[in-house]
Amino acid sequence: MTTSQPIVVDSVSVSPDHYIDGQRVASASRFALSSPIDQRPLGQVAEGLDAHVEAAIVAAQQAFAAWSALTAAERKPYLDRFAEEIGRRADAFCRLESNDAGVLLSRMRHGVVPRAMLNITWFAQHALTLQNRPIETEQAHHIVRHDPAGVVAIITPWNAPLMLSTWKLGPALAAGNTCILKPPEWAPLTCSLLAEAADAAGLPRGVFNVVQGTGATTGARLVSDPRIARISFTGSVPTAKWIAQAAGANLVPCSLELGGKSPFIVLEDADLDNAAATGALMYRNAGQVCLAGTRLLVHARVADRFVAAMRGYVEKLAIGDPRDEATEVGPIIHPRQVERVQGFVQRAVAGGARLLWGGGPHPFGAQYFQPTMLTELRQDDEIVQNEVFGPVLTLQTFGSDDEAIRLANGTDYGLGGVCYGATEHATAVAQRVRTGFIWVNSFGIRDLAAPFGGIKRSGIGREGGDWSFEFFCDIKDVVVPK
Ligand code: NAD
Repeated sequence: MTTSQPIVVDSVSVSPDHYIDGQRVASASRFALSSPIDQRPLGQVAEGLDAHVEAAIVAAQQAFAAWSALTAAERKPYLDRFAEEIGRRADAFCRLESNDAGVLLSRMRHGVVPRAMLNITWFAQHALTLQNRPIETEQAHHIVRHDPAGVVAIITPWNAPLMLSTWKLGPALAAGNTCILKPPEWAPLTCSLLAEAADAAGLPRGVFNVVQGTGATTGARLVSDPRIARISFTGSVPTAKWIAQAAGANLVPCSLELGGKSPFIVLEDADLDNAAATGALMYRNAGQVCLAGTRLLVHARVADRFVAAMRGYVEKLAIGDPRDEATEVGPIIHPRQVERVQGFVQRAVAGGARLLWGGGPHPFGAQYFQPTMLTELRQDDEIVQNEVFGPVLTLQTFGSDDEAIRLANGTDYGLGGVCYGATEHATAVAQRVRTGFIWVNSFGIRDLAAPFGGIKRSGIGREGGDWSFEFFCDIKDVVVPK
């Protein structure tokens, strides 16, 4: 089948086809995309049929022999060029993801694109240290090898397609695996551009493949295939349960980065203005950020002052078109998601919750929702226990550290957290919160060497630094007696 005409979005051209074995591959079946900004159609992209998944697996298997035989030092120049080619297309990445996912252009430009490049170069560099970690004992010399696992399936969600796809591709490729990326069906365009960057960088055919499609069809077919050696997934809990079963059927390791309902604790001795300013940041990207602290837990004695300060910051938030660099809160990804968010708020209010601000659609457009805060809640309320993934926060008060920790730990999620207070006090409280990470008097500081991931229903496994390589590699001890 011949390749398709490119889709043009805000003067950026991108292929709507898959990328398999170094070639663009069209499909007889396509699905339509529309922009969350204004619902305008963006075009139709190839839907992955069984034959496409099969072709990608065969291509990745064939490419594995040569790619895995290279040393990390030999792979590094390819990956450095890949990052350069991403950088060369920075403006196009920004515009595509703003249009198809509604991600803030300012965030794309200053955060996501530089980070996507770093995701590739950092792991290419870190891979150089992997084969040089011998263990010496009196008896033997242990050569600890990190061998690539094989063909890796990478499945990513719509709220951060470029960032999360490169976060997985970087270590998977640097370790010597070959990859098949299944982008999110609501926002696949930057993953297609990623294939263009890989191609321009001269990555050998079949090393990196992109097969687009819906999760229930293309994604399910990919993760169920016994030739897949690893499944790296970021997304929702229900999908993760499905993928874990498919992985279990083939006894394939899977890494699961899932949702959150992270606590944002404000202790009595917190700098309330700083805490309130950070609280307002939780509405960025319309709250569609897995690691946002969405449950405000505030000491009762400072709650009124905190609410007043946060209200001031929330009222100043610039809500609008994410392509405008000044915008701080953009649209919700999909009409279905808008309905879901509205449903959560309506049920909470019907159940007795009180709105502190927001609560309904925002006049800017059909997929915009007011930054919302609910209070007067019980710990077992639906809105306290479940991830909304929209611009909706809850506020509960507490009277002691023990009570704050009980509330913080009182959901099935355990992704992240935020804790504001006098540094020593806040650090002590933060260490008692059961999550994969927590920020003290700050939010969002990340380092690629640090572990990232959740506990309980927020996931299985850790990404970042050595943890990514432990997942993407077969680790082997070669024991040579002395
Ligand atoms: P989702 O689970 O619906 O979809 C995620 C991806 O999985 C998509 O590419 C989808 O097509 C695919 N998929 C769906 N069903 C599948 C199946 N049966 N087999 C294989 N693939 C399948 O999630 P979403 O709505 O796209 O994303 C939002 C969720 O992601 C939220 O819960 C959010 O918290 C979470 N998230 C977590 C992190 C993290 O790092 N922990 C980061 C971002 C988003």
